[in-house]
Amino acid sequence: MTRKTLTSLVCCGCSCLCDDIDAVIEGDRVVETANACRWGAARFLGLKKFSHALPRARCRSSRRRPDSRGRHDLSLAEAVSACRDHLFFARRVVAYGLGQMSLDALQLLMEGLRDWETLWIPSDGPLLQAFVETYGRHAPALTSLECVRNHADVVIFWGANPLRSTPRLLSRYALFPRGRFTERGAEDRKAWTVDIQTTEMGRVTELMTIPPDREKDCVRALRRAHAGLPLEAPAGLSAKTLSMLLKDMEASRYRVFFFGRGPLYHAGGEAVLDELASWVTELGAFAPTFLMPLPGDFNSMGFLQVFLSCGGLANPLWRLQGDVHRWEPRAGDVLLALSGDCFWFLTDDQKRAVRKHRIPVLALSAHETMTTAEADVVAAVGLQGLDVSGRATRLDGISLFAENLWNGEAVSDEAVVRDLFEPLRA
Ligand code: SF4
Repeated sequence: MTRKTLTSLVCCGCSCLCDDIDAVIEGDRVVETANACRWGAARFLGLKKFSHALPRARCRSSRRRPDSRGRHDLSLAEAVSACRDHLFFARRVVAYGLGQMSLDALQLLMEGLRDWETLWIPSDGPLLQAFVETYGRHAPALTSLECVRNHADVVIFWGANPLRSTPRLLSRYALFPRGRFTERGAEDRKAWTVDIQTTEMGRVTELMTIPPDREKDCVRALRRAHAGLPLEAPAGLSAKTLSMLLKDMEASRYRVFFFGRGPLYHAGGEAVLDELASWVTELGAFAPTFLMPLPGDFNSMGFLQVFLSCGGLANPLWRLQGDVHRWEPRAGDVLLALSGDCFWFLTDDQKRAVRKHRIPVLALSAHETMTTAEADVVAAVGLQGLDVSGRATRLDGISLFAENLWNGEAVSDEAVVRDLFEPLRA
């Protein structure tokens, strides 16, 4: 068996898209990795993300739910054709997942669905929807992760826990590494986490916990104090902690706010982001200040890029929906589960409605999931960055190319989506 070492590989384990991974490969198997975090290593080694001792089941064969003739396995071409038959009769397509597809597959998908009524539900939906709405109103600046490493002397994680979403963000870019103007690494940076709960971020940053109903008041209080008005701490918050945070902000030359899903878990969360984005825009007049989203899926930002560049917000047939729980399944829907485990997140009522309305479930997946177990048709695709190549967009909007590690029979999601829509467009 051939054994080789490859260097500077791109990991598609999360939206950091680390491009410094080394791997030892035997045949079509990774046996060792270097530089990857535990999640990244698990992806390369074929293990479960949260149970590293267990192998993660790959979806290797295309199939359809057994019918009266007991037919089960299909060739990929047959599975794609069966998906096409279902799509042909769809009154509305519900496209779920999306953040783990390649950029080129997303482009083809959106071109294919341009004239179809489509409900887009990305798995990072709440964050992406808030991003679209907030940036549409305030347009705070974004920066690259390399600039964060080289320049940022204050980083604030607002409702974000990178240890649980983008594990190497702190060690590679935002907190510990030495940069061009942050030569002493963490010693040259002030780091804060603002959250509604205590998290392990408290071990590596200052932590300010705030009651959920005081989050917006907290941003307002900081904003007013920064503008020179007296600092009035909202109930439940310490004026001393607020003034320490403010002092760090005022002394900084380059500050970056990362926002996560935290505020979006409670009613009024979008108003918090709105206030934050407005303040960050205002702060930009004093020193470079940036607001960056922290999505989890490796190509969530790629989905957004393609969606916006295809005129997704202006297409009257399309709707971007952040929360999958707000999908009301109805007759005529076809659920297209694209590399995301939709059934893991659906409520029991939604699952019942899917069955009641006999909604076809079509899954394109590289792994076995609850959705592939329920799907009417499963099309097996290769895993990006291992079996197949593909482009993806990092959380700061920079695109990277993840190359395949071996030449096997697995087919890319791009090829499957192309096959799916080409005959429908003819
Ligand atoms: S931080 Fe993300 S991209 Fe980097 S190695 Fe870990 S899982 Fe992979």
